[in-house]
Amino acid sequence: MISEKDSITVIKGIGPKKASLLNQIGIYTIIDLLNYYPSNYKDRGALQPIDNESLGNKILTNGIYLGNGITKFIKKNMNITVLPFSSEDKNFNVIYYNQPYRKDHFTINKEYILYGTVAHHNGAVSLLSPEIENTDRKEYLKEGKFAVYSVPAKLPISQKEFSFYIKYALNETDFTEQLPFWIFNEYPLPSKAEAYHLIHTPQNDEDIAMGNQYFQLIKFLKFFVCIRRLKSRDKKQNGVKLSLNRLDEFIDKLNFTLTKSQHAALQDIKKDVSSGIKMNRLLQGDVGSGKTAVAAAAAFMAAESGCQAVICAPTEILAKQHYQKYKEMFEGFGHKSAVLYSSMFKKERDKSVQEIQSGEVKVVFGTHALFSKDVNYNRLSLIIIDEQQRYGVAQRAILESKGESPHVLVMSATPIPRTLSLSFYKDLDISILNELPKGRKPIKTFTADSSSNERIYQFIKENANKGLKSYIVCPAIEEESMENVQAVYKEAAEQLSPIRIACLSGETPESEKNRIMEQFAYGDIMVLIATTVIEVGVDVPDATVIMIKGCERFGLAQLHQLRGRVGRADKQSYCILHTDHTSEKVIGRLEILKNTNDGFKIAQEDLKMRGEGELFGMQQSGKGSSIIYEALLYENLFLAAEKIYDKLLISSNAKDMELCEYLSKTVTIEMDGIVLN
Ligand code: ADP
Ligand code: MG
Repeated sequence: MISEKDSITVIKGIGPKKASLLNQIGIYTIIDLLNYYPSNYKDRGALQPIDNESLGNKILTNGIYLGNGITKFIKKNMNITVLPFSSEDKNFNVIYYNQPYRKDHFTINKEYILYGTVAHHNGAVSLLSPEIENTDRKEYLKEGKFAVYSVPAKLPISQKEFSFYIKYALNETDFTEQLPFWIFNEYPLPSKAEAYHLIHTPQNDEDIAMGNQYFQLIKFLKFFVCIRRLKSRDKKQNGVKLSLNRLDEFIDKLNFTLTKSQHAALQDIKKDVSSGIKMNRLLQGDVGSGKTAVAAAAAFMAAESGCQAVICAPTEILAKQHYQKYKEMFEGFGHKSAVLYSSMFKKERDKSVQEIQSGEVKVVFGTHALFSKDVNYNRLSLIIIDEQQRYGVAQRAILESKGESPHVLVMSATPIPRTLSLSFYKDLDISILNELPKGRKPIKTFTADSSSNERIYQFIKENANKGLKSYIVCPAIEEESMENVQAVYKEAAEQLSPIRIACLSGETPESEKNRIMEQFAYGDIMVLIATTVIEVGVDVPDATVIMIKGCERFGLAQLHQLRGRVGRADKQSYCILHTDHTSEKVIGRLEILKNTNDGFKIAQEDLKMRGEGELFGMQQSGKGSSIIYEALLYENLFLAAEKIYDKLLISSNAKDMELCEYLSKTVTIEMDGIVLN
């Protein structure tokens, strides 16, 4: 038996060389290895005979090697190895390209398990580049589900080797259970050892779901550790009393009337900040509901009281946009504002930092650069965090420590049902914007494939001729892909000429980004081809068409965010979901978007449609996942975790206290990764 803390070198086949490779991906001990969760699961199906029906499919089959394998040269740098096999009464060939040594891997008249694609090759039924295993090592190439690990390609460790290590560890490890016994009595959970087995070697989706419960519970428990920490710090702290002076005048200066719910949210905020107790409020409202105006009004109250407010946005584009939009309004009332982000020129930055420190600036817009060590505030009394799902708990805490118990307003477009909001946002009061500004027309959403390209470009052209703007969004840059921003840019340039278009990606230099965004928002750039840099919050009211290319690659919540870039004024807007994929799964997911504009419904439907395997991989990698979605999905477990945590906290049982200590300790390390919303 080996223990969780043993070095991975106790595993058969891992010597110092392999160990140092694994060290590179953070794997030192047995438990590190087992915590390298599968990124995905695939299914080999049942063992089946090779025949005409299996043509074109990847199948698991067995066969006896007949000998007389040969390697032929086809052309320069290309050879093919053909190995005759028989299975039951049928003969077939196993084929490998550029792997002549494969001949030596087989023994005549011995049976093997093979997993590869069935094809016709030179008139004979063949199995292309199959994985192979001896029949006495069945478990390494077994029927049904199997885990796939995303070991970085630069490490010379194959899936097969990696799976072998995992299986070895699973079989040999003597696990120490962390959860006290009573939890298993009250909740149907697998033990730690079972959970690792279920996750790494599941038979089906139910196994993955079951194993996941264990890890999910621990994650939720850690989440509650975080939440309670914030809460205990926040309890009944005093907050600066802010003035409501000239607030109505400020609101009159906006070029619209507030919606009822914007008005109500502002009432809530006014009450909080004038009470003398620190505000901790969440402003929740779907994309386009007008959270920024409420934030600006709140910042105005701080400025008007001779204090500072910061408005923190998740991207530079957004920070600059907010700044440009509200700078003059604040100036009109004699309040200077500034903007701060990491790619600023030093001179500019120094000026901002200096003016912030001296208190000359009252309202500071920015990105996480606002958190930097060398940025000191002067009477910072209000912190506003936009799209707060992008920030970890710890980051929020850093910013808060820069003021003297400043009021906090966090804003989020992720709606959450009432049943969860109490547990979730224990430390926050909630205001909800549940309506869109008057006159908004629902965005019309279509799906399209490349056969409609010309029509779509025509549509975009007509739109531009009416003076309206369009976005074309492409998945992140990737060579050889047709959706590549540059390729689409070229295509669009040809199709849309002489209309002025521009291209924006993560690689565009900051100064250039600025110029392009500005000319797209206010100038004569009519079409913007962009990656998801425009995903969050970007606000160009004249934009009425968005075409999203390769949309099978995006999560639904992300597509909803992207769609929210249009329909931001009273003009009819359109969203074209472009994909050449025809699978039912892809089309089914897009159908959800076509049918509703409700962000919450979309998130829930999206989660329901994913398989457990996909969900698990997504959660573990942190991709597209956040605690809020996990809580939505595993609502009962989430609520159970809260009850369990409450019990742990007051328990004097040794095992309970041990668990508490473990959670606290690991949370300090991982807190940055736990995202509140
Ligand atoms: P989000 O909630 O997604 O952050 P924004 O604050 O960016 O939304 O607002 C979306 C757009 O609606 C902006 O152009 C904003 O100026 C406009 N807007 C906000 N409130 C109103 C309102 N009450 N009436 C009309 N337009 C509004
Ligand atoms: Mg916004």
